[in-house]
Amino acid sequence: MIELDSVSKNFGDTTVLAGVTGQVNRGEIFAVIGPSGAGKSTLLRLIDLLDTPTEGAIRINGLDIHADKGRRLSIRRMMGMVFQKPAVFNTTVTENVAVGLRFRGAGRSEIRKMVEDALDMVGLAGYGDRKARTLSGGEMQRVALARAMVIEPEVLLMDEPTANLDPVSVAMIEDLVVRINRDLGTTIVFSTHDMYQGQRLAHRIGVLMDGVFSQVGTPREVFTLP
Ligand code: ADP
Ligand code: ADP
Repeated sequence: MIELDSVSKNFGDTTVLAGVTGQVNRGEIFAVIGPSGAGKSTLLRLIDLLDTPTEGAIRINGLDIHADKGRRLSIRRMMGMVFQKPAVFNTTVTENVAVGLRFRGAGRSEIRKMVEDALDMVGLAGYGDRKARTLSGGEMQRVALARAMVIEPEVLLMDEPTANLDPVSVAMIEDLVVRINRDLGTTIVFSTHDMYQGQRLAHRIGVLMDGVFSQVGTPREVFTLP
């Protein structure tokens, strides 16, 4: 479904990605694993159209996502993104989750229902009227996840979604990743520096090392010595 075709990214003289090739299959959980600075954020930002590759192409359903600027909006609408630092606006939880729906011309009562369902899914039913900035880090990250999911994306991208969270919140987010994939069939790509998290959650793993996928495979394939 997502095809990375020799994707390179330079920042000035620094090569961060040096020809990443691989593919993410529809309906799977794919983990991008690598140490800090390996280029995980950079790769996810390229998929999310927040940046452009220096060379190579990223195709979704066969379409080069960076080639056709006119398709930008429709491609972004297929994707939800959750960042490492929980990004919430200084408004109510409901407003935070509804923000992506407002642009789609959904009606008021329809929006309310969708937001309630999304908050229910992430275990925050009844939190709608609270100020998002007063929540804990784990709760904020679940608000961010509800915002990404309320648009019913085909692909959910998560950039080190649990890196700054306490263990209980990590477990909640991990449980949500598994449930979203299983119950909604959402294709999920997440990054982590924690290989055990990759092993716990992912159907397949790409190990990002020296700017390329040094290995791609199931956790068993990647973590079992030959
Ligand atoms: P990771 O997510 O694996 O920790 P990043 O993708 O954040 O890695 O960063 C990889 C490298 O690219 C780092 O050395 C970082 O400093 C550099 N980098 C990322 N974004 C930029 C940018 N916009 N300009 C210059 N260097 C960048
Ligand atoms: P992360 O931990 O998610 O990689 P960072 O705190 O490293 O985030 O980076 C935050 C933002 O700054 C990202 O959008 C990244 O692309 C950008 N960035 C990272 N490193 C550099 C850099 N050396 N120069 C400019 N921008 C950078």
